[in-house]
Amino acid sequence: MQNVLVYVQHKGGHTPKVTFEMATQARVLADKLGGKAHALVVGNGATQLAESLKAYPLDVIHVNDDADVDTFLLDPVVDFIDAAARAIGPSLILIPNTLTGKDIAGRIMARLNAGICADAVDFKIEGGRVEAIMPKMGGAAITTCALKPGDYGVVTIRPNAFAVQASGAGATVQAIEKPSGKTYTVTVEKDIEEGSGELALEEAPVVIAGGRGLGGPEPFDTLLKPLAQALGGAVGASRAAADAGWVPYSLQIGQTGKTVSPNLYIAVGISGAIQHKVGMRSSGTIVAINKDGQSPIAEFSDLTVVGDAFAIVPELTKLVAASKS
Ligand SMILES: Cc1cc2nc3c(=O)[nH]c(=O)nc-3n(C[C@H](O)[C@H](O)[C@H](O)COP(=O)(O)OP(=O)(O)OC[C@H]3O[C@@H](n4cnc5c(N)ncnc54)[C@H](O)[C@@H]3O)c2cc1C
Repeated sequence: MQNVLVYVQHKGGHTPKVTFEMATQARVLADKLGGKAHALVVGNGATQLAESLKAYPLDVIHVNDDADVDTFLLDPVVDFIDAAARAIGPSLILIPNTLTGKDIAGRIMARLNAGICADAVDFKIEGGRVEAIMPKMGGAAITTCALKPGDYGVVTIRPNAFAVQASGAGATVQAIEKPSGKTYTVTVEKDIEEGSGELALEEAPVVIAGGRGLGGPEPFDTLLKPLAQALGGAVGASRAAADAGWVPYSLQIGQTGKTVSPNLYIAVGISGAIQHKVGMRSSGTIVAINKDGQSPIAEFSDLTVVGDAFAIVPELTKLVAASKS
């Protein structure tokens, strides 16, 4: 028997989609391990967020609105995870594979003397043995790493790799105490939003991605951005566009880039190579705008618009703007 504990990263009660992905996956893992699915949410807005997490298939949500979490850098969070993990016993601890999540995961691994698997996109469980599956070396290799059965194990989870199912199991919300006698010294002076738009791309409900077919950097600003704005989405790119220096690598989608799973994905001038497909195939509706109707992307898009992107995209943007007004 092994429990599963999800660390819920959030800001003032706002949490990224990966939290819901982890909450859903925690249920699957806990059922296979014969344990319970727990979540830990701490800091300003935690109680309110815990209420909305009840919609997901968790058993217990540990909560504390402790102000130190937002005042000091990471240490209070690590203390809370440590306390929750020790309270529930040997457990599989799921942490988002974000910059902050990775920082926390390393610390909690050391605290609990646990094994760690980073950037998991899938799991295999047999006889209580947990194996995490992780792309490595930019996706050129897929590795499988087993954690010690029945002990603490830390796994960071790649955003958008797991499905979300909001089928609430009526989780119990219970208060968790911060370990006593702790003093913290490193304060958070200022929170700076990432300039790369990293979060926006991974969280966006609509993604407009451009590829080599756009021929240069300008159309990303003049063609794709207006459409993304009209649809309330974010701009992404293929690796060919990033390699050409037309956009930063933070916009690259695919095996060696980001995994996205928006409701609507519009691929503009992208051929649909397998390495691109793996980063966007779980999108809701996939639309391709490509002048070659035989391009591989036509095989897995829901709708292929055959024609010149430079003629189609401005018209589409106008239509979207008109329908909104
Ligand atoms: C190990 C490895 C990892 C990789 N990782 C990634 C990754 O993470 N992400 C990724 O994207 N790729 C990745 N690649 C590269 C991938 O194999 C492809 O080379 C790349 O996706 C091609 O990008 P593209 O579709 O933009 O360009 P192309 O394949 O050149 O396609 C351009 C498309 O634009 C169309 N087009 C041209 N002009 C127009 C126009 N005016 N209007 C409309 N359509 C037009 C063409 O018909 C064509 O279909 C990886 C490759 C390797 C080997």
